[in-house]
Amino acid sequence: MRGLMQEQPLVISSLIEHAERSHPEREIVSRSPEGLVRTSYGAVGERARRMAAALQRMGIDRGERVATLAWNDHRHMELYYAVSGMGAVLHTINPRLFAEQVEYIVNHAEDRVIFFAPGFASLLEKLADRLPTVRAFVAMCARQQMPAAALPNLLCYEDLLDVEPIAWPEVEENAAATLCYTSGTTGDPKGVLYSHRSTVLHAFAACGVDGLGVGSADTALLVVPMFHVNAWGMPYAGAMSGAKLVLPGPALDGASVYALLRDEKVTLALGVPTVWLMLFRHVDEQRLSPQRELVLQRCIIGGSAAPQAMIERFEQEFGCEAIQAWGMTELSPLGTVSRLRPEHAALPAEARRQIQLKQGRAVFGVRMKIVDDEGRELPRDGASAGLLKVKGPWVAGAYYGCGPATDADGWFDTGDVATIDAEGYMQITDRAKDVIKSGGEWISSIDLENAAMGHPAVAEAAVIGLHHPQWQERPLLVVVRKQGQALEREEMLAFLAWKVAKWWLPDDVAFVDSLPHTATGKLQKAALRRQFGHYRWPEA
Ligand code: AMP
Repeated sequence: MRGLMQEQPLVISSLIEHAERSHPEREIVSRSPEGLVRTSYGAVGERARRMAAALQRMGIDRGERVATLAWNDHRHMELYYAVSGMGAVLHTINPRLFAEQVEYIVNHAEDRVIFFAPGFASLLEKLADRLPTVRAFVAMCARQQMPAAALPNLLCYEDLLDVEPIAWPEVEENAAATLCYTSGTTGDPKGVLYSHRSTVLHAFAACGVDGLGVGSADTALLVVPMFHVNAWGMPYAGAMSGAKLVLPGPALDGASVYALLRDEKVTLALGVPTVWLMLFRHVDEQRLSPQRELVLQRCIIGGSAAPQAMIERFEQEFGCEAIQAWGMTELSPLGTVSRLRPEHAALPAEARRQIQLKQGRAVFGVRMKIVDDEGRELPRDGASAGLLKVKGPWVAGAYYGCGPATDADGWFDTGDVATIDAEGYMQITDRAKDVIKSGGEWISSIDLENAAMGHPAVAEAAVIGLHHPQWQERPLLVVVRKQGQALEREEMLAFLAWKVAKWWLPDDVAFVDSLPHTATGKLQKAALRRQFGHYRWPEA
């Protein structure tokens, strides 16, 4: 027997339609090429319907890919709705990729149009004649900011809006809506093709109180880029909830982020650890008092493990809750959120902190399990570590043009190694390919990095496993000192000796000026291992 409820498709246009009806005046503040722009859901919705009309006039059909090469700003937000809303597929390109990678993914996706922030004109000029499927390049600005670029069929975003807006067409909820390529450090990037349905369901999860908890009372700063996993779904969660959105444009340095937090009275900020480290540096240099100047209530940290020192600093110095979340491009990205449960309130502070350091419990919609090398499920005892596999309606089933992403039983292998405890808290110990195996036992590089980051003179730390004649592999700690701080090997190791098991202690410490990061701000351990390819252990 079928249920008798209305079968309304879960589509992306319904989110902006709701925003236009329910909270049209709610602000969207954006650093755009012309400066700080104040717009609203009402204006974004109306302009998205105009842009959808313009795309139809350009001959874009349903299912065709329309790319963006852009920072977080109001025009990018309009394209989120215009492109998917008219039934085409929004392909967000990470501008920090190498030119050859951009070329590869544009051609793989067979993009028809590329919308770009004016600053990327020269990158596109170099590539344009190697992008045979692209029919037009649209600069995301007004006439006055048009770049002087030698691009075929170069159009101006604001000029295109001079058309009557369309009414959103009917779209099937399982139709493709957006496309994002993984920023993998090995092999070619793979395309994750989100559907309308997966995106709307994910937005519900993001708004849930135990998800990201986005609500109408929030002002949310998206330091997480709109070119990577749809800015963690925030442009959709914002429209759903009516949160004010603050889009920082290209300026992600500490001073610019701090100014937005303060001036826009941000209550919820989302970003990867690297951007928060830049924020902390600014606070230190300028001797600021965040707790006095800001009204920040929650900071969501994801994309890489949140170090203990970062969680403590947000809580003690910013007076806000620091919440770790884990996810992946293939998970839209939300998988787990680390929040304390009521029974943890009575625990001593250090025990509570150890729980916050875990990546968290699965949000409804995501099922998790850990398995050993033979695929046997491991116990949820907080100690057994194995490959983390997930399932769910916003988890990738296949890669675009590359076949299935799951095993025969429909589980997606995350490539992360993790434990799950009896309360369901998952903790990542490593990426499978970064695991350090010493004398047959695993050492968690994430735990070691976290401990090292607790030293006041450490700006950033990475641990890699390098070949060792006796132990097969041993950990090497690579440290970036804070500016002007003195720190030597012996002091670092003595500090760690109090924090980790003796046999986990790195065999050596190397000091560097900076660490390599991927285009999305993650430590690039493969590059670091190459950098230390000729390294010799002190005693060897
Ligand atoms: P991406 O698909 O580029 O967003 O990368 C996803 C990967 O980032 C995950 O598989 C994890 O290895 C890592 N990651 C994301 N969030 C966290 C977190 N909170 N702690 C540790 N690793 C994380």
